[in-house]
Amino acid sequence: MDISVVIPLYNEEESLPELFAWIERVMSANGFSYEVIFINDGSADRSWQIIEQLQAKSNAVRGIKFRRNYGKSPALYCGFEQAQGDVVITMDADLQDSPDEIPELYRMITEEGYDLVSGWKQKRYDPLPKTLPTKLFNATARRVSGIKNLHDFNCGLKAYRNAVVKNIEVYGEMHRYIPYLAKNAGFKRIGEKVVHHQARKFGKTKFGGWNRFFNGYLDLISLWFLSTFGIKPMHFFGLLGSLMFFVGLVAVIIVGASKLYDMNHGMPYRLVTDSPYFYLSLTSMIIGTQLFVAGFLGELISRNAPERNKYQIEKMI
Ligand code: UDP
Ligand code: MG
Repeated sequence: MDISVVIPLYNEEESLPELFAWIERVMSANGFSYEVIFINDGSADRSWQIIEQLQAKSNAVRGIKFRRNYGKSPALYCGFEQAQGDVVITMDADLQDSPDEIPELYRMITEEGYDLVSGWKQKRYDPLPKTLPTKLFNATARRVSGIKNLHDFNCGLKAYRNAVVKNIEVYGEMHRYIPYLAKNAGFKRIGEKVVHHQARKFGKTKFGGWNRFFNGYLDLISLWFLSTFGIKPMHFFGLLGSLMFFVGLVAVIIVGASKLYDMNHGMPYRLVTDSPYFYLSLTSMIIGTQLFVAGFLGELISRNAPERNKYQIEKMI
């Protein structure tokens, strides 16, 4: 099978028939063998009935129905698990992404050798409160992930080599960072294609509001932390802890020694506990010890993690 189209959806009943008809048109015009996997993420409307109707008419249609709304990432995860095509294409269900991009995305993966090609909505038809945070978000994500050539991390329209989707774990709200997940899994050829974007035709956006902004940043921090220190927590906490402890120790020795010096030279002196520096160095030593212990505990935990020996093996002969 050439292509699996994976479509997560939540209350998108109006768009589905038009979307599928469009995909079908593009696929048969290009002679692709394909499947379309709809993941109904706990919709409260008639989306699932419509998927069943489409399924009755075409056996290219597959459907997964969640009992409740879990979010876009879990929906993608389950779609990825099922995908059989050599190239897997994800797109939103709301007709904002155009199926006409599929042939070119397919060509970039199969002929130009990309592992992942992300769409770039260069001209975007969304309101400003949505596009502005996205700009900031993308700038940060570029820096943290080191994937410098991507303008639009969170574009719903993306194409993957099949091996990529089988080897990344999209959970929580990590769909925003799939290129970063792919990079961490060792898929380095990540490209971009300018794609057409349209205003939402039916329904309304499921990702409004500012909390997506904060959650997005927290997720980015966890990802960065996991990929940098996840397997070696001691390298972070241990180093920081030892440094703090050492600084505190040196400082407390200086405080004590200067008192002894003053005593022996008949100068006025005071109790070490009267010096503010004593408390600073004490605090630094305590925090240092705690960081060190945190690193050690982290190390013990990661040693027991079920995935500690799961490595990305590309080939075996
Ligand atoms: N979506 C989903 N589960 C959710 C929220 C959204 O499957 O909990 C789907 C939604 O139906 C759409 C895609 O994710 O197909 C992108 O959502 P939306 O178009 O609302 O996001 P926007 O384009 O406004 O960023
Ligand atoms: Mg949309």
